[in-house]
Amino acid sequence: MDNGTAKNIREGLTADCSKCFGLCCTALAIVASTDFPINKPAGTPCVNLQSDYSCQIHSNLRGRGFKGCTVFDCLGAGQVVSQVTFKGQSWRDNPEIGDKMFRVFPIMEQIHEMIAYISEALSYDIPHKLSDRLNVQLVALQNLTRLDAEQLLVLDLAKYRIPINNLLSETSKYIRESLLAKLPGNKNATNYNHERADWIGKKLRGKDLRAMNFRGAYLIAADLRNTDLRSADFIGADLRDADVSGANLSTSMFLTQMQINSAKGDVKTTLPSQIERPSHWVK
Ligand code: SF4
Repeated sequence: MDNGTAKNIREGLTADCSKCFGLCCTALAIVASTDFPINKPAGTPCVNLQSDYSCQIHSNLRGRGFKGCTVFDCLGAGQVVSQVTFKGQSWRDNPEIGDKMFRVFPIMEQIHEMIAYISEALSYDIPHKLSDRLNVQLVALQNLTRLDAEQLLVLDLAKYRIPINNLLSETSKYIRESLLAKLPGNKNATNYNHERADWIGKKLRGKDLRAMNFRGAYLIAADLRNTDLRSADFIGADLRDADVSGANLSTSMFLTQMQINSAKGDVKTTLPSQIERPSHWVK
């Protein structure tokens, strides 16, 4: 697979709410917190969901306390469940399918998330042996998206997640070590491993953090202003309220729209091409 094809697959994972029956606003539970002003159990529509499945406070979600809604990204799982798995039947017109639809949605979300990570890995210049193994997993995941609801509900996703996680780690290590080899001085990859590190609120302004491994790291409210984060791996990292204003994330790896939506940034933050600048960053 060439880089262009991998990028097209990644870009195809864009949510299209006009083709979805408001699944994120219905299937998922909401817990009152700094991100939401209300509680809502899973499987019940949000009070703001309108009959055409649009949100009546869409233009002012943050102002109304629904910050969590501006962070969420289903990676296109909503429209696939609505239009492919359930063939355009809505839970409002067919209440008997509602429960099944709401349980399938988070499963499809996880499949789409894995497809997003693999397609990103395939967009890098990596050894053929590694890309061949990633391609096998990609095809398997794409086939899963076409299963019917009954088949999706009994899937053992760990069977896919574990080998995929290993392949993504291998990709990350290859890319980060390739960069370290080009940097001046004797760079020791061990010093770049901050997997699952607790860096909550850490002051890192202006630091060179290239090729760092931040897999699963807690970077909540960290000061990352004007940092260089190229080729840093962010898979599973918690970036809530981390300040990436002016930071260079242009080639950061496995960064998601949700992570960026949950962080603070500005017009000077440089983002990877597949990530959109959140509208709430405009100052
Ligand atoms: S506030 Fe709007 S976007 Fe958020 S869950 Fe409710 S309907 Fe959906």
